[in-house]
Amino acid sequence: MELSKSQTINRALAHYGIRTYLDVLEHTPRTYEDMNPTENEVMILDKSRVVFYGYITRFPTLSHFARVSLVRFGFRTLAGNEFNIEAYNRPYLVKILNSGVKYVLVGVFDQKKHKVNLVNISKYNAVSHTEAKPVYSLPSEVDQLTYRRLVDRAFSYYRENNYEIKDVVPAYFMKKYRLLPRKEALELLHHPKDFKDVHAGLRVLKYEECLKFTLKTELIREENKKLEKNKKQHINTKLVDEFIKTLPYKLTKSQDEALIEILFDMNKTSLMYRLLQGDVGSGKTLVAALALYGNYLRNDQGALMAPTDALARQHYVTLCNLFKDTKMKIALLVGQTPYKEKKAIELGLINHEIDIVVGTHALFSKSVEYSSLGLAVIDEQHRFGVNQRLLLASKGSHADLLLMSATPIPRTLALTIYGDLDVSTLKEFPFDNKQVNTLITSSNDQKIDELINDSLAHHQQVYIIAPLIMDDLTADKVTVETLFARYLLKYPGKVALLHGKLSQEEKLYALESFKKNQYPIIISTTVIEVGLDVKTANLMIIYDASSFGLASLHQLRGRIGRDGKKANCVLIYDGSEESERDKLEVLVRSNDGFYIANEDLKRRGPGELGGYRQSGLPSFNFVNLIDDFKMFTCAREDSKFILLHRLEPGFRRLLKEANEEINNDKFTNV
Ligand code: ADP
Ligand code: MG
Repeated sequence: MELSKSQTINRALAHYGIRTYLDVLEHTPRTYEDMNPTENEVMILDKSRVVFYGYITRFPTLSHFARVSLVRFGFRTLAGNEFNIEAYNRPYLVKILNSGVKYVLVGVFDQKKHKVNLVNISKYNAVSHTEAKPVYSLPSEVDQLTYRRLVDRAFSYYRENNYEIKDVVPAYFMKKYRLLPRKEALELLHHPKDFKDVHAGLRVLKYEECLKFTLKTELIREENKKLEKNKKQHINTKLVDEFIKTLPYKLTKSQDEALIEILFDMNKTSLMYRLLQGDVGSGKTLVAALALYGNYLRNDQGALMAPTDALARQHYVTLCNLFKDTKMKIALLVGQTPYKEKKAIELGLINHEIDIVVGTHALFSKSVEYSSLGLAVIDEQHRFGVNQRLLLASKGSHADLLLMSATPIPRTLALTIYGDLDVSTLKEFPFDNKQVNTLITSSNDQKIDELINDSLAHHQQVYIIAPLIMDDLTADKVTVETLFARYLLKYPGKVALLHGKLSQEEKLYALESFKKNQYPIIISTTVIEVGLDVKTANLMIIYDASSFGLASLHQLRGRIGRDGKKANCVLIYDGSEESERDKLEVLVRSNDGFYIANEDLKRRGPGELGGYRQSGLPSFNFVNLIDDFKMFTCAREDSKFILLHRLEPGFRRLLKEANEEINNDKFTNV
């Protein structure tokens, strides 16, 4: 079926995952423009967005300056206030604006000149008027109006053919929560009269999302729970303690407590399913390593999985150093491992010649089998699809599972998101205070160069981060490649470049030479976000900082000041959005991962998604975990109810879909 007559549009939409009329309808607006008239017209602040309803009073005049055209006119609002309106480069307005017609005008107020810069003006139409104007996120080839027409076409297609839009939520819960039928909800979301309609529509999609998510985690949990340990070998915790005594440092109190909890779980007959959470730099790796040591003592194999090659490699080196005086055999298995070596490792795992294998999702390849996998640790677990967790556990079929996350969230929230799992939290840091100073500035601030020079003079390293790789269509965005060119001029022979599109060899080379300080500056995308541990890096500069989520920024910042000494994090923001600046201020104010995760969640919701995710929490299209916490909790209970009554015909479809989604869950690894 052709959505539109234009091939370009169809192709662009298909690329967005929009191929059928149902896809069109399910692609709900990213946000809504508030078209409620501005209240208190005399108290408007400078640069604020205004919405006026009213009439043209002074007729538009057109003037030209160099290459710019300017249309000016007067506008009287329904409240009776007069404003001067200016519109740049829209000469046609002179021809189309009429007196005696009621208009809706959107603009930006300029206090100094007491005028309004026009953003948009349209005739007021009582029939199609809305106080909440849908804004879709679309590929650049498709504009808002085209998409709106497509939505209308999709609705009439359904109407004319008497097609139904099936509800996702079982009727039982639709009734319980008085949810609107899905079709009506979609209507409201695409054609709301006001924000009340938007909320009513959203309620349905939010609950759908909550229910599907919780049902999937419950299903996975259920399968994991069925498993029991193969054999019951006790870990002698005294031996673990003895090993700890040989370390050059002491465990923090939290590390100690978490380890006790983990070893206790491992000594139970049921399988461990535990989340170890702790802020960046709180020392999760060491706890995991000691758990792996305990696992080794009971004569089981361990697997440690990380989301990137670089991180796997780093963990491998850490473990090798930590266990160099033991007889433990440790192997590294990443995508890049040469075929022959891979085969040798696979053999070693089947024969139990290898005790611990560290790797990326390569640990999942069909050919990898374990003789006796006792413990699987998954670092930065949010990077992996839910399904991968199941897969790894089912590899040994009876392995304890330890998930690690650097985005600490309150216990109640963790339980709600992940379901019934045990949580250990690292509350302290191995170093007393983390001395990272954070500042917000613009990209042309002299201070940036001063800080870089200072770092280089002290033989410290510098991270420079940007969100994008290559020159995107949006030319105003900074990319790592433009930055690379720019900094290379300033610091010849000192700059490395790292991003996801490089080959593994190139990535490795960039990272290694940065680690060794051959190149003291690395320009990178967020590939370095996860877990990298370079102790002598003390400066990070993040371009276009507001395009990252707060949790991501906090993770990034966690890469510096790792030796406990002073470090600087520069957040570059060239825009003038109050809310964006406000978001960045959170990082200036706080270095507390809990607080930041909470602020991040508060700010997320419809419209905040897309772009650069990976910030350490599951992301949802409609649900905001703070605002919709209650609904999420209900959905979790409802999911349990569904599993208890799984034979109910009304639940079958949803269960089938959830199972399918679990099975199809692709590796979400970057
Ligand atoms: P994260 O929790 O972010 O994964 P890491 O495990 O990478 O943190 O640990 C951060 C740094 O702290 C590492 O360099 C690690 O060697 C060090 N570290 C961990 N635990 C201790 C400790 N008890 N005493 C001193 N240093 C520690
Ligand atoms: Mg880590």
